[in-house]
Amino acid sequence: MSKLKLKPGVVTGAALQDLFAYMKDAECALPAVNVIGSHGINAALQAAKEAQAPIIVQLSNGGAHFYAGKFLKDGIQAAILGGVSAAHHVRTVAEAYGVPVILHTDHAAKKLLPWVHGLLDHGERFHKAHGVPMFSSHMLDLSEEPLHENLEICAATLARMAAIDMTLEIELGVTGGEEDGVDNSGVDNSKLYTQPADVLAAYDALHGVGNFTIAASFGNTHGVYKPGNVKLTPSILKNSQVEISRLRGGGAKPVNFVFHGGSGSTPEEIREAVSYGVIKMNIDTDTQWAFTHPIKAFMDEKSAYLQSQIGNPEGDDKPNKKYIDPRGWTHLGERGMATRLVEAFRDLGAIGKFEL
Ligand SMILES: [Zn+2]
Repeated sequence: MSKLKLKPGVVTGAALQDLFAYMKDAECALPAVNVIGSHGINAALQAAKEAQAPIIVQLSNGGAHFYAGKFLKDGIQAAILGGVSAAHHVRTVAEAYGVPVILHTDHAAKKLLPWVHGLLDHGERFHKAHGVPMFSSHMLDLSEEPLHENLEICAATLARMAAIDMTLEIELGVTGGEEDGVDNSGVDNSKLYTQPADVLAAYDALHGVGNFTIAASFGNTHGVYKPGNVKLTPSILKNSQVEISRLRGGGAKPVNFVFHGGSGSTPEEIREAVSYGVIKMNIDTDTQWAFTHPIKAFMDEKSAYLQSQIGNPEGDDKPNKKYIDPRGWTHLGERGMATRLVEAFRDLGAIGKFEL
């Protein structure tokens, strides 16, 4: 199969659907990396350049708030502004890196609907001015609500998003573990496994409204833990594809699935999930570690140069400016993050599949 040719910049609308369809055929997926600042975005773009593949850059509500500044106290307003700011940063520099980017926002529970609506207010104005949406997609996570309410709110939001060529990611079932202050580590085990009937209900509720992806639970968890009771069961995804294909058509893999909690998964588990129509795998904990660890190593190794502005083992009058400068050690973190992301591209089978 020939490589998919893509232009640098933000991928939206029909081009994004073509990309998803291609990935299901080619059995590959893209890493979706959570970012909290321009350093994370730049590391992500560099990773995409090295992997010669598109990348998904996403912000959680907390990440978007942080992007605008933890100093700001109005959380919803800060997360709207941080999201807009990050989107502009990606749109400003992506072409310089020469990579296609899918711009996305992560989990939004019911209480965070004002965040998504605020982003859509900006998105609609952006679409009016430029003919494309600001973000490629947003996620709504109403998995805590009854299924019918989850799907009603998703359908109404998707109608608004489809009008500006956007795609919606929804969640069915619950991703275990803890992320961004949401702790699902004590949740009932049965909720950690989505039923094919629920996927079918979602398909029927959203199919005629617009383009969507589904984060289904198959024992995946946020965060990295010692192996425990929860077993990763990607066959849930396969059974859903078979069921919907049989009842509604749409080819062998009618659904675009999203894999949350990719950190800590084995390459075999990832490959199996991808073969069942996963087109996006979220990665956060592993890239947080990849960013922080080299900085810790630097701080440990150069400790004697970081005790004061002047004076180190080479002499009492020696300046420490080059060790103190945050650009030096921040870049070590960026490099670590980019390297870890290239590994994710490899695990997801995305290297060698694109022509940029
Ligand atoms: Zn998630």
